[in-house]
Amino acid sequence: MSDSDGKKTLGLRGSGSRPGNVKQSFSHGRTKNVVVETKRKRVVVPKPGAGKGGAGGVAAGDASRRPAGISDAEMERRLKALQAAKARESEEAAQREAEEKARAEERERRRAEQEVKEREQREAEERARQKAEDEERKRKEDAEAAKRAAAEKAAPKADKTAGTPAEARGPAGAAKPAAQAPRKAEREREERGRGTKVRNDGGRRSGKLTLSQATGGEGGRQRSVASMKRKQERARQKAMGQIEREKVIREVQLPEAIVVSELANRMAERVADVVKALMKMGMMVTQNQTIDADTAELIIEEFGHKVVRVSDADVEDVIKEIIDADDDLEARPPVITIMGHVDHGKTSLLDAIRDAKVVSGEAGGITQHIGAYQVTTDSGAVLSFLDTPGHAAFTSMRSRGAQVTDIVVLVVAADDSVMPQTIEAIAHAKAAGVPMIVAINKIDKPAADATRVRTELLQHEVIVEAMSGEVQDVEVSAHTGQGLDELLEAIALQSELLELKANPDRAAQGAVIEAQLDVGRGPVATVLVQKGTLRQGDIFVVGEQYGKVRALINDKGERVQEAGPSVPVEVLGLNGTPEAGDVLNVTETEAQAREIAEYREHAAKDKRAAAGAATTLEQLMQKAKDDETVSELPILVKADVQGSAEAIVQAMEKIGNDEVRVRVLHSGVGAITETDIGLAEASGAPVMGFNVRANASARNTANQKGVEIRYYSVIYDLVDDVKAAASGLLSAEIKENFIGYAEIKDVFKVSNVGKVAGCLVTEGVARRSAGVRLLRDNVVIHEGTLKTLKRFKDEVAEVQSGQECGMAFENYEDIRPKDVIEIFERVEVTRTLD
Ligand code: GDP
Repeated sequence: MSDSDGKKTLGLRGSGSRPGNVKQSFSHGRTKNVVVETKRKRVVVPKPGAGKGGAGGVAAGDASRRPAGISDAEMERRLKALQAAKARESEEAAQREAEEKARAEERERRRAEQEVKEREQREAEERARQKAEDEERKRKEDAEAAKRAAAEKAAPKADKTAGTPAEARGPAGAAKPAAQAPRKAEREREERGRGTKVRNDGGRRSGKLTLSQATGGEGGRQRSVASMKRKQERARQKAMGQIEREKVIREVQLPEAIVVSELANRMAERVADVVKALMKMGMMVTQNQTIDADTAELIIEEFGHKVVRVSDADVEDVIKEIIDADDDLEARPPVITIMGHVDHGKTSLLDAIRDAKVVSGEAGGITQHIGAYQVTTDSGAVLSFLDTPGHAAFTSMRSRGAQVTDIVVLVVAADDSVMPQTIEAIAHAKAAGVPMIVAINKIDKPAADATRVRTELLQHEVIVEAMSGEVQDVEVSAHTGQGLDELLEAIALQSELLELKANPDRAAQGAVIEAQLDVGRGPVATVLVQKGTLRQGDIFVVGEQYGKVRALINDKGERVQEAGPSVPVEVLGLNGTPEAGDVLNVTETEAQAREIAEYREHAAKDKRAAAGAATTLEQLMQKAKDDETVSELPILVKADVQGSAEAIVQAMEKIGNDEVRVRVLHSGVGAITETDIGLAEASGAPVMGFNVRANASARNTANQKGVEIRYYSVIYDLVDDVKAAASGLLSAEIKENFIGYAEIKDVFKVSNVGKVAGCLVTEGVARRSAGVRLLRDNVVIHEGTLKTLKRFKDEVAEVQSGQECGMAFENYEDIRPKDVIEIFERVEVTRTLD
């Protein structure tokens, strides 16, 4: 600095009088350098001044010196001024900054206050408008308006927060170098300009805020002028919109839970709007999520619709019981179930009545498959007989709400009298409140003692007419046909007393007697129509299934167009297989049918879940392990049809006392599979196959793991075995031994013999004297004896494994290639069940 001072004096002097070169030559060696340097230095600083010098002077050095000379003193002043200005500036800036900060804070506070105020104001306005206008539409718009307002407010807020802390850093200020010391006026201009550009309120608000700070509350109102305009505009739009949509206030059916999209659908609102409204309520949900009824109700009200709370079960309302007027009622045939102890002749009687020979085809004398048929008595009365597998089916149907039976015919063999299942049957009939007619069967037998039967029945409070009671009793013989007409007339008489009536001219209602999945025809249900008339093309719901009647087939196998009260028909056109006892109802639309079916399915699922029903193998095992209070006999049941499976399970549930009980781990329809064996093995349970067989892999696994598979073709045998096992009383008895298996390769028709199966013995031996069963897909479809066993042209007693042979069944012709013939013998063994 001291150097530069000296140079400056020299330079100044020289430059003051003349062009600096002369003076420079005097003190050449020393000063020259100095001067040059000084000049140069000076040239640099006062550039604006140099311009002026340049205009007057010729040489470049001249021009540089002059301004240097002039500006030196001036420069100092200027510098000082500049510094002072800078100091002032920074002071001011700091001050401004502090002010700004305070203002920003204030603004923030004001804004919050204003927002609250505005919201309140808006709400008040809204309320007022709501009174005048339709409530619902307004609210919806309000929600949107609030959103928009919030968005608008958010934008200026962002601007302000960026701009306020240091205004100089605003878009305009930042562009100018700080060294140039923009003037305050300039700045202010800038600020104003920017203010107007960005938002009038910003600048105005900041000024007014200070004011309003002092006065309090004034700023908010003034600021809201613009927003008021917007609000008015919005309100106008709103009002316009409302006029258009005013009519669509809907009654929204609200179940206990509803999917968001379905809720929107029912309100006829956009899903996005509903989701938005839910978000506003703090619920972040997608359109596919389910919300509870309370939340949904708020939304429905928000949208201005009416809430109609419905319970899920209300979907069933469409099929609610219609009370038929007396005038509409017409007499209908009675529905009869034949019950009684095993081997007392139920099947024989049913067959005798139908005058058909099904007996030989049935295994073991128990009705295997649930069916039904109608007969007409000599006197012209029509009777509908149910062909049910014993009492379990009767009760299981009843427990499903299908009270189908009007009259029970209790069959008691005259030579055997009252037996355990006779007593059971009596109990069932009484429990159901169904009148009984006693058929004392096998009266043709020498050992027949009808009086004994009557007397023994007395002990069970069944007082027959012959004993001065009210229960009709008829002595019959299924074999000779004796007393059959009398029995039918007794039934007709009883039915007259009951005055059975139904309205045939209404939507049909019926009960499923039997249902199965038919390979060719799909799910098939035998339905006994109870009310109304079921017609082809009717849409219906049955249990958890629904469908449209594709075809109706009567008990004679004929296609019919309709079925009235008490008529059993096979119904085709179901979407799934219902269960015996399920009620069928005709609905108006498929949507209704489907809704009801789906509701029932869910309800059933919930019920199962609530009951803690185990579904997986592990759950089953865990449950069995946990339950240690009672000792259990676990079993697995597989049966040919659902009806049988149910009947067995019901019978199993009845077995046992406080100490022991039978637990059916699993029951199902179809062949015994490896999964079944796995479950049985894990639980140490035997597998009970009722008219079904294990497939090959299941058989192997069972052998390896030591799982017992027992096959039955008579429910009572199965029940007896389990009973005996449960009470530890297994005794020696006749048991079946499988001695061979043969596969049918081809079927031939031979005159005088009928159908003959060309077979290959695949296992063991085929023996002429042995019993045979025909298995199709591991399900027993026939049991009987062989009519012929031929090897080449000769009748033989035995055919060994690996050899081909011809076989024909006694009284049975429905044989097909790939069917399997099971050959068994009965041997006496000691029973083991565990
Ligand atoms: P379910 O088990 O009650 O169905 O009895 P079934 O109808 O299978 O009959 C059992 C056995 O009794 C069969 O061997 C029939 O032939 C025989 N049976 C049935 N009814 C009569 C009858 O009226 N008289 C005679 N003698 N035997 C009969």
